[in-house]
Amino acid sequence: MDEAFRELKREIERALLLMERLGAACAGAPELQGLVRKLVRQTERTDSLMAGSGVAEACAKCARATGSCCFREMGESYGAMQLFANLLLGAEIPRSWDFPKSCYFVGKNGCELKSRHSFCLNYFCPQLIDILGEEKILEIQRQVGEQLLAGWELERTLTRFITSRATPEHP
Ligand code: SF4
Ligand code: SF4
Repeated sequence: MDEAFRELKREIERALLLMERLGAACAGAPELQGLVRKLVRQTERTDSLMAGSGVAEACAKCARATGSCCFREMGESYGAMQLFANLLLGAEIPRSWDFPKSCYFVGKNGCELKSRHSFCLNYFCPQLIDILGEEKILEIQRQVGEQLLAGWELERTLTRFITSRATPEHP
Protein backbone atom coordinates (compact mmCIF):
# COMPACT_ATOMS: atom_id res chain seq x y z
CA MET A 1 0.00 0.00 0.00
CA ASP A 2 1.61 3.30 -1.06
CA GLU A 3 1.22 6.73 0.56
CA ALA A 4 -1.40 7.99 -1.92
CA PHE A 5 -3.61 4.98 -1.21
CA ARG A 6 -3.06 5.31 2.56
CA GLU A 7 -4.21 8.95 2.29
CA LEU A 8 -7.33 7.92 0.37
CA LYS A 9 -8.12 5.34 3.06
CA ARG A 10 -7.76 8.09 5.69
CA GLU A 11 -10.19 10.32 3.74
CA ILE A 12 -12.65 7.41 3.51
CA GLU A 13 -12.35 6.82 7.28
CA ARG A 14 -13.01 10.54 7.91
CA ALA A 15 -16.10 10.43 5.70
CA LEU A 16 -17.42 7.32 7.49
CA LEU A 17 -16.79 8.96 10.86
CA LEU A 18 -18.64 12.12 9.76
CA MET A 19 -21.55 9.94 8.69
CA GLU A 20 -21.56 8.13 12.03
CA ARG A 21 -21.41 11.37 14.06
CA LEU A 22 -23.51 13.71 11.94
CA GLY A 23 -25.56 11.60 9.51
CA ALA A 24 -28.70 11.74 11.70
CA ALA A 25 -28.29 15.49 12.35
CA CYS A 26 -27.93 16.09 8.60
CA ALA A 27 -31.09 14.08 7.98
CA GLY A 28 -32.92 16.45 10.33
CA ALA A 29 -31.59 19.68 8.80
CA PRO A 30 -34.12 21.01 6.23
CA GLU A 31 -31.62 23.13 4.26
CA LEU A 32 -29.23 20.19 3.86
CA GLN A 33 -32.02 17.81 2.94
CA GLY A 34 -33.23 20.25 0.27
CA LEU A 35 -29.72 20.33 -1.21
CA VAL A 36 -29.39 16.53 -1.03
CA ARG A 37 -32.70 16.15 -2.91
CA LYS A 38 -31.57 18.71 -5.48
CA LEU A 39 -28.32 16.83 -6.08
CA VAL A 40 -30.16 13.49 -6.29
CA ARG A 41 -32.47 14.97 -8.97
CA GLN A 42 -29.49 16.28 -10.91
CA THR A 43 -27.53 13.00 -10.70
CA GLU A 44 -30.65 11.14 -11.87
CA ARG A 45 -30.98 13.48 -14.86
CA THR A 46 -27.31 13.01 -15.75
CA ASP A 47 -27.53 9.22 -15.30
CA SER A 48 -30.63 9.05 -17.46
CA LEU A 49 -28.92 11.04 -20.24
CA MET A 50 -25.85 8.80 -20.00
CA ALA A 51 -28.00 5.66 -20.10
CA GLY A 52 -30.21 6.88 -22.94
CA SER A 53 -27.29 7.87 -25.12
CA GLY A 54 -25.29 4.63 -24.73
CA VAL A 55 -22.54 6.01 -22.47
CA ALA A 56 -23.49 3.93 -19.45
CA GLU A 57 -23.53 0.68 -21.44
CA ALA A 58 -20.21 1.37 -23.20
CA CYS A 59 -18.51 2.29 -19.91
CA ALA A 60 -19.98 -0.70 -18.04
CA LYS A 61 -18.61 -3.04 -20.75
CA CYS A 62 -15.18 -1.46 -20.35
CA ALA A 63 -15.41 -1.75 -16.56
CA ARG A 64 -16.15 -5.49 -16.74
CA ALA A 65 -13.43 -6.11 -19.34
CA THR A 66 -10.55 -3.97 -18.11
CA GLY A 67 -11.59 -1.87 -15.12
CA SER A 68 -12.36 1.02 -17.55
CA CYS A 69 -10.29 4.13 -18.21
CA CYS A 70 -10.83 5.30 -14.62
CA PHE A 71 -7.25 5.70 -13.46
CA ARG A 72 -6.24 5.26 -9.85
CA GLU A 73 -4.97 8.82 -9.30
CA MET A 74 -8.50 10.08 -10.03
CA GLY A 75 -9.94 8.08 -7.15
CA GLU A 76 -7.10 9.21 -4.90
CA SER A 77 -8.11 12.84 -5.47
CA TYR A 78 -11.45 12.42 -3.62
CA GLY A 79 -11.59 14.02 -0.19
CA ALA A 80 -13.63 13.34 2.94
CA MET A 81 -16.24 16.04 2.24
CA GLN A 82 -17.19 14.76 -1.21
CA LEU A 83 -17.22 11.19 0.09
CA PHE A 84 -19.43 12.29 3.00
CA ALA A 85 -21.80 13.92 0.46
CA ASN A 86 -21.84 10.59 -1.40
CA LEU A 87 -22.78 8.72 1.76
CA LEU A 88 -25.65 11.18 2.34
CA LEU A 89 -26.81 10.42 -1.20
CA GLY A 90 -26.87 6.71 -0.39
CA ALA A 91 -23.66 5.68 -2.18
CA GLU A 92 -21.74 2.72 -0.78
CA ILE A 93 -18.02 3.23 -0.47
CA PRO A 94 -16.31 0.03 -1.65
CA ARG A 95 -14.61 -2.05 1.04
CA SER A 96 -12.21 -3.68 -1.38
CA TRP A 97 -10.35 -2.68 -4.50
CA ASP A 98 -11.91 -4.64 -7.39
CA PHE A 99 -9.48 -3.40 -10.05
CA PRO A 100 -6.20 -2.45 -8.30
CA LYS A 101 -4.76 -0.82 -11.42
CA SER A 102 -7.81 1.46 -11.73
CA CYS A 103 -9.64 3.99 -9.57
CA TYR A 104 -10.61 2.58 -6.16
CA PHE A 105 -14.27 3.47 -6.79
CA VAL A 106 -14.77 1.55 -10.01
CA GLY A 107 -16.82 -1.59 -9.49
CA LYS A 108 -18.04 -4.36 -11.79
CA ASN A 109 -20.91 -2.16 -12.98
CA GLY A 110 -18.97 1.07 -13.26
CA CYS A 111 -18.50 3.91 -10.79
CA GLU A 112 -19.81 3.30 -7.25
CA LEU A 113 -20.04 7.01 -6.42
CA LYS A 114 -23.06 9.24 -7.01
CA SER A 115 -21.47 12.70 -6.69
CA ARG A 116 -18.33 12.85 -8.83
CA HIS A 117 -15.59 15.26 -9.86
CA SER A 118 -15.91 17.33 -12.99
CA PHE A 119 -13.24 15.28 -14.79
CA CYS A 120 -15.13 12.03 -14.11
CA LEU A 121 -18.30 13.46 -15.66
CA ASN A 122 -16.82 15.45 -18.53
CA TYR A 123 -14.40 12.92 -20.04
CA PHE A 124 -15.43 11.39 -23.37
CA CYS A 125 -13.01 8.89 -24.92
CA PRO A 126 -12.78 8.63 -28.76
CA GLN A 127 -15.24 5.72 -28.75
CA LEU A 128 -17.84 7.80 -26.87
CA ILE A 129 -17.25 10.83 -29.09
CA ASP A 130 -18.10 8.58 -32.08
CA ILE A 131 -21.22 7.17 -30.43
CA LEU A 132 -22.53 10.53 -29.22
CA GLY A 133 -21.66 13.27 -31.67
CA GLU A 134 -21.13 16.92 -30.81
CA GLU A 135 -24.72 17.91 -30.07
CA LYS A 136 -25.38 15.12 -27.57
CA ILE A 137 -22.04 15.80 -25.85
CA LEU A 138 -23.03 19.46 -25.41
CA GLU A 139 -26.41 18.41 -23.99
CA ILE A 140 -24.69 16.08 -21.50
CA GLN A 141 -22.14 18.76 -20.56
CA ARG A 142 -24.91 21.27 -19.83
CA GLN A 143 -26.60 18.76 -17.54
CA VAL A 144 -23.29 17.85 -15.90
CA GLY A 145 -22.77 21.57 -15.16
CA GLU A 146 -26.08 21.61 -13.26
CA GLN A 147 -25.05 18.52 -11.30
CA LEU A 148 -21.64 19.93 -10.40
CA LEU A 149 -23.24 23.17 -9.19
CA ALA A 150 -25.68 21.21 -7.00
CA GLY A 151 -22.75 19.16 -5.62
CA TRP A 152 -20.76 22.30 -4.84
CA GLU A 153 -23.74 23.89 -3.04
CA LEU A 154 -24.19 20.77 -0.90
CA GLU A 155 -20.51 20.50 0.02
CA ARG A 156 -20.26 24.21 0.88
CA THR A 157 -23.29 23.97 3.18
CA LEU A 158 -22.02 20.72 4.71
CA THR A 159 -18.70 22.39 5.54
CA ARG A 160 -20.55 25.20 7.36
CA PHE A 161 -22.76 22.68 9.15
CA ILE A 162 -19.79 20.60 10.34
CA THR A 163 -17.87 23.69 11.49
CA SER A 164 -20.87 24.90 13.49
CA ARG A 165 -21.01 21.55 15.30
CA ALA A 166 -17.31 21.15 16.02
CA THR A 167 -16.38 20.59 19.65
CA PRO A 168 -12.94 20.61 21.35
CA GLU A 169 -13.06 16.76 21.41
CA HIS A 170 -14.15 16.56 17.73
CA PRO A 171 -12.66 19.56 15.93
S1 SF4 B 1 -14.97 6.66 -21.29
FE1 SF4 B 1 -14.48 5.24 -22.96
S2 SF4 B 1 -12.60 4.16 -22.31
FE2 SF4 B 1 -13.54 5.13 -20.52
S3 SF4 B 1 -14.84 3.53 -19.59
FE3 SF4 B 1 -16.14 4.77 -20.96
S4 SF4 B 1 -16.09 3.68 -22.92
FE4 SF4 B 1 -14.38 2.91 -21.70
S1 SF4 C 1 -15.96 7.99 -12.57
FE1 SF4 C 1 -15.90 6.97 -10.59
S2 SF4 C 1 -14.67 5.16 -10.93
FE2 SF4 C 1 -14.24 6.59 -12.62
S3 SF4 C 1 -12.46 7.82 -11.99
FE3 SF4 C 1 -14.30 8.90 -11.38
S4 SF4 C 1 -14.66 8.25 -9.25
FE4 SF4 C 1 -13.30 6.78 -10.18
